[in-house]
Amino acid sequence: MKCGLLGRKLSHSYSPKIHSMLGSYDYVLFEKEPEELEYFLKNGDFSGINVTIPYKKKVIEYLDDLSPAAKEMGAVNTIVRRSDGSLIGHNTDCFGFSSMVKKSGLQVAGKKVLVLGSGGASATASAVLQKMGAHAVIISRSGESNYDNLHIHADASVIVNATPVGMYPDTGISPVNPDLFLKLEGVLDLIYNPARTQLLLDAEKRNLKTENGLWMLVAQAKESAEWFTGQKIPDTRIAEIYSALKSQTENVVLIGMPGCGKSTVGPILAKKMQRRFADADTAVAEKAGISIPEIFEKFGEPGFRELETAVLAELGKQSGLVIATGGGCVTMEQNYPLLHQNGCIFWLQRELSTLSSEGRPLSKSGNPEQMYRIRKSMYQSFADHTVDNNGTAEECAQKICSIWEANL
Ligand code: NAP
Repeated sequence: MKCGLLGRKLSHSYSPKIHSMLGSYDYVLFEKEPEELEYFLKNGDFSGINVTIPYKKKVIEYLDDLSPAAKEMGAVNTIVRRSDGSLIGHNTDCFGFSSMVKKSGLQVAGKKVLVLGSGGASATASAVLQKMGAHAVIISRSGESNYDNLHIHADASVIVNATPVGMYPDTGISPVNPDLFLKLEGVLDLIYNPARTQLLLDAEKRNLKTENGLWMLVAQAKESAEWFTGQKIPDTRIAEIYSALKSQTENVVLIGMPGCGKSTVGPILAKKMQRRFADADTAVAEKAGISIPEIFEKFGEPGFRELETAVLAELGKQSGLVIATGGGCVTMEQNYPLLHQNGCIFWLQRELSTLSSEGRPLSKSGNPEQMYRIRKSMYQSFADHTVDNNGTAEECAQKICSIWEANL
């Protein structure tokens, strides 16, 4: 059985991975230009396909039939070839989105929910929200409710981002500022890469409920797989596949005092978790073309910090890395969202008297107790977890693996 994903640019898609966990059919990527669409749908070698940006509406004119959900949404994300060769379109994003709302724990009935964007995902989200009893308002750049008159919706309880703003690789930007909405209870972002868009990071800062689009992606794929195979898949598979994907894609970030063992524990951990290891200090030296002590000598600490932030911006938005940071990265507040957007941050703690100062200009010239006093609260504010590294590096790596697995 041959299935796959139809879209225009698909290299970053998680769908092949998800479908490999859902069924035993082949799942391939069909990257097509608009002018190739009709021929592909009429003659393509597939039994079932998913459809993504920008073809969810466009495919409808080439289909023989639509399921009630696809008809209602005016968008198709799953096509099945029936035994007589005809094509039927389904919409499994509805199930995916309603499952995401439930997972978030947000109660939307009777509340005003702003849905950002007016494309296919926005139409699906708005229809599902209305069915759940919410008052959904679409915010569109060219609509009556737009980004210049958001104050008229200051009473909104929930925001749903159904735009691509903040998506990899253009991370660090947000379509709206959650601080404009005083009654806000939560933010749902349909984007899943990065795990925390700037919008979700801003919402987290206010302790609001947040959910990214990964759960929806897995849930809609589960229902698609049911259409492809004709077999029911238990809903419990959604959580299992979601955890597996989260584990593979989020970064593990190590912070801590200079010489506490981040660059030693990092490669051991990366091997254990079958990930790539990236050392931020090494990347800074490579970027500058000179060693860390030479950077300090030539450009001072401000010059080093600037380079370090540029390197963390690049590393932080990648997926599935173990990243060892420089000991002072926490002194720059702007490094936090760069590391946290796609990463879980572990603070490695080691007895100050045993810290190595080799090749570390600030450690050589200063006193570790004084440095620790200044930085302790900064490490605390960056860290998701704290890990003792007074034993062996292997033991420390094992502790991180255990915490990681317990938190999936
Ligand atoms: P789409 O049909 O292209 O619609 C996106 C909408 O976003 C546009 O109609 C536009 O609305 C708005 N928009 C686009 N660029 C913008 C910008 N620079 N600033 C502000 N608004 C902008 O795409 P879609 O299929 O609806 O997907 C939207 C997002 O949801 C994508 O990030 C996609 O990856 C995600 N998604 C996730 C899942 C999942 O399973 N997690 C499923 C479907 C979609 P206006 O012109 O009206 O402002």
